[in-house]
Amino acid sequence: MYELIKKDGLAKRGRLHTVHGVIETPVFMNVGTAAAIKGAVSTEDLQGIKTQVELSNTYHLHVRPGDEVIKKLGGLHKFMVWDKPILTDSGGFQVFSLAGLRKIKEEGVYFNSHIDGKKIFMGPEESMQIQSNLGSTIAMAFDECPSSVADREYMENSVARTTRWLERCKKEMNRLNSLEDTINQHQLLFGINQGGVYEDIRVQHAKDIAKLDLDGYAIGGLAVGETHEEMYRILDAVVPHLPENKPTYLMGVGTPANILEAVDRGVDFFDCVYPSRNGRHGHVYTNLGKLNLFNAKYELDMSPIEEGCQCPACRHYSRAYIRHLLKAKEMLGMRLCVLHNLYFYNTMMEEIRAAIEAGNYKEYKEAKLAGMNAGKK
Ligand SMILES: [Zn+2]
Repeated sequence: MYELIKKDGLAKRGRLHTVHGVIETPVFMNVGTAAAIKGAVSTEDLQGIKTQVELSNTYHLHVRPGDEVIKKLGGLHKFMVWDKPILTDSGGFQVFSLAGLRKIKEEGVYFNSHIDGKKIFMGPEESMQIQSNLGSTIAMAFDECPSSVADREYMENSVARTTRWLERCKKEMNRLNSLEDTINQHQLLFGINQGGVYEDIRVQHAKDIAKLDLDGYAIGGLAVGETHEEMYRILDAVVPHLPENKPTYLMGVGTPANILEAVDRGVDFFDCVYPSRNGRHGHVYTNLGKLNLFNAKYELDMSPIEEGCQCPACRHYSRAYIRHLLKAKEMLGMRLCVLHNLYFYNTMMEEIRAAIEAGNYKEYKEAKLAGMNAGKK
């Protein structure tokens, strides 16, 4: 159940009650593709960096080790030793971005595994069954993520099919949740809005899926190459047509600035690989902008990545040491940068929640953006 606690302009401060605990929103979900956050980050680490929700990729876990294996082991929570909420994506995005040869039919998608080329079929029912086997807290609907440059006619047909798939997802999820041997019988289902950069298609789709009374609504197919301004324009158009009393999730977004802007437009769930991916490359976020720790100027720098940061990296280690680890390709270097970056994002979400509660979100946003931009050289 979702509680809308407070609004400041369009910004929403909410609380999603789940069987795995409460999610305070706005929230940034930390992406652990194959049931681990890349960069040698353990679930124990997550306890120390304010992670609320871990996100795992259905497609990756379906291919390896297999969702039926995970079900036999008691589900994803037991498998990775994490008792807080987990969101699984539908597998759709990976099917469309990673898999080789694929064929989209009304029943679903036929494609080849990116690991061994094996033929796989995935449709709405299969995606729900896989996510039910994983036993995640929140399952995502199976949708087509069409190319952002798809023409209007293709987009209209694709979105209509995504709506039909969503109805099938809902039906199948209800069936699975009623079965005795289902790991999480309270699994929630979020629907996904599509439509590329066609505002009217997106708005109509939002209205259509809002009628299905799902547990939450996501906006997919953004952050795939369109400009930030285009993304904000779509959010301005679409978010008002999604139910306000449900979570609003912008998939795969984004930079701290993207998140600050999207919160201001009513979004309260986010996920993105940036903090972990950038961390693995020695790029770290601070309130004065991003630093590249490979830079020679940090060779003798004994200060932490960010003064005052309480993350496991900054509490103990210097920029000089972490730079050395990165250059020596020691795994610890990446690990410390990833921990810092996730802590930075999770802490920013904490600040965002406090600012909405205090009713000064716009001021907070402007100050935060100004700080991060001031550090840019
Ligand atoms: Zn830190």
